[in-house]
Amino acid sequence: MIRLVDSHCHLDMLEPEARAEAVSRAVRSGVRGMLTIATRLSAAEDVIAIAAEHSPHVMAAVGVHPHRVSENGIPEEAELVAWGSRPDVAGLGETGLDYFYDNSPRDQQQESFRRHIRASNETGTPFIVHTRNADADTITILKEEASGEGLKGVLHCFSSGRDVAEQALELGMYVSLAGILTFKNAKDVQDIAADVPLDRLLVETDSPFLAPIPMRGKPNEPGYIVHTARKLAELKGVSEEEIAEATTANFARLFTKAAGLADA
Ligand SMILES: [Zn+2]
Ligand SMILES: [Zn+2]
Repeated sequence: MIRLVDSHCHLDMLEPEARAEAVSRAVRSGVRGMLTIATRLSAAEDVIAIAAEHSPHVMAAVGVHPHRVSENGIPEEAELVAWGSRPDVAGLGETGLDYFYDNSPRDQQQESFRRHIRASNETGTPFIVHTRNADADTITILKEEASGEGLKGVLHCFSSGRDVAEQALELGMYVSLAGILTFKNAKDVQDIAADVPLDRLLVETDSPFLAPIPMRGKPNEPGYIVHTARKLAELKGVSEEEIAEATTANFARLFTKAAGLADA
């Protein structure tokens, strides 16, 4: 049986009953592990509690989404270091830049993004990047904040240009593909995904958003990651088993505190 890990979902956006059902459907379909992502610090404890409730299949990441920086305030670096130091917080994020919606002022998004990366460098807990319509500034910030050893992080729901992927890979980062990969109009993302080395790829649903084809239009859930993994196998010209094995091993290598999800 294929074993996959959903490297990015938002289980706190489901009601408890729907959440429990979605998690058990996922586990039954071979999605043994899920990383559930907070979008603001006030939700962090809830997200961590959800992960604990669904142990050993779910772990949590904590951070401030670029959409939420105005409302949350730019987090203090020390506060992010404290979250990143906890054994039950496997990732810092999601953070990054979203110039498509511009829900928070760009200078505040940038400062928040930099502080998440610094907290990641300090704690060794990887950071999770959301970037949309912000390729140039994303590259600049990644390069400027990289330590001598590069960066421990992932570009989530990859939909940027090739130069963003290349820069991130050069710094040692990973690229995570979501349901967009299956969309007919996603030729650019498909071409880039085909060129990312197999040992740097992750898969995710970003559920409840962006369900992959053939589930498009329905609320997304972690079990649907199989469709994205299948598309990725087709693009890379390898078997679905190989994609599952590689992306699960990559997840465990990057998110060391959540490595147990790979064997859950
Ligand atoms: Zn995102
Ligand atoms: Zn997300």
